Amino acid sequence: MSHSSDQSYEPVSGMDVPRFAGVATFMRLPLVDLEAADDIDIGLVGIPWDGGTTNRPGPRHGPRQMRDMSAMTRRVHHFHKMVPYELANFADLGDAPVNPADVTDALDRIEGFYAKLTAKGIRPLSAGGDHLCSLPVLRALGKQKPVGMVHFDAHSDLWDSYFGGFKFTHGTPFARAIEEGVLDPKRTVQIGLRGGVYDWEDRDFGAKHGVRMIDIEEFHDLGIDETMRIAREVVGGGETYVSFDIDCLDPAFAPGTGTPEIGGFTNREAQFMLRKLMGLNVIGADVVEVSPPFDPSGYTALNGVTMMWELMCVMARDVANRKA
Ligand code: MN
Ligand code: MN
Repeated sequence: MSHSSDQSYEPVSGMDVPRFAGVATFMRLPLVDLEAADDIDIGLVGIPWDGGTTNRPGPRHGPRQMRDMSAMTRRVHHFHKMVPYELANFADLGDAPVNPADVTDALDRIEGFYAKLTAKGIRPLSAGGDHLCSLPVLRALGKQKPVGMVHFDAHSDLWDSYFGGFKFTHGTPFARAIEEGVLDPKRTVQIGLRGGVYDWEDRDFGAKHGVRMIDIEEFHDLGIDETMRIAREVVGGGETYVSFDIDCLDPAFAPGTGTPEIGGFTNREAQFMLRKLMGLNVIGADVVEVSPPFDPSGYTALNGVTMMWELMCVMARDVANRKA
């Protein structure tokens, strides 16, 4: 399916075609081939891959279920009083190429897709996939200069290795990204950390490199406004990536994920935090770890795509600000 550039990039309206009908794309946007995407500002991409998963699998099926549930979103954001589609051109760019049987080959294929995307000046908003999917995206976005990051997660994902020295799992992406120089640890903030861990290694790594780690207890004491003031201070005005692991939410809201941890954010707390990113230079974002096999109601995926919708508004505003 292709799309010619003289058409608008509006979602198909539920007033014209019922929301349950048609071929599912993210937010019912046009599906555009990356090779033909010459006037897209923000590309929505699926990464159907979970080869970095160490426990309960399934996020390889995330993009399909998230495309389906995204039919629930509409065009006006009531809080920001904006229509992101009026500020930037969005399209569904399909899925990144993957290899379910080879981790390093999958990472190379995904990075190649994102390198093409960034070369066209498109900002990616991705639906995972497990959290290792963020590594090849950061390799593409941070190739010239390391990016900052606002990271919502129950877990730091700063571990060195699993299973006797294997360096690439969904528990290690940000340790690799920092070591490889594509992520600036001093402009990285992690929000919502909780749950038992193996040992102190990830904390030591974060502290050594200057990552600001905000545990769920600190978030509880600070509140949303102060937490996000700190987050904005950490990343500043530079190029910033936002990574949203759905397990930052409490499993009451997001049971469909591989590594649930109780005591997490409500979906409303997460929405309000994402809204506080408005005005930052968000050059890319992802929502990862939605696992449909553990999500029979589809509600975890609905939470995931609604967080994508919040991020779309933040990204569209920055695109418009920079064009003005
Ligand atoms: Mn994670
Ligand atoms: Mn996590």
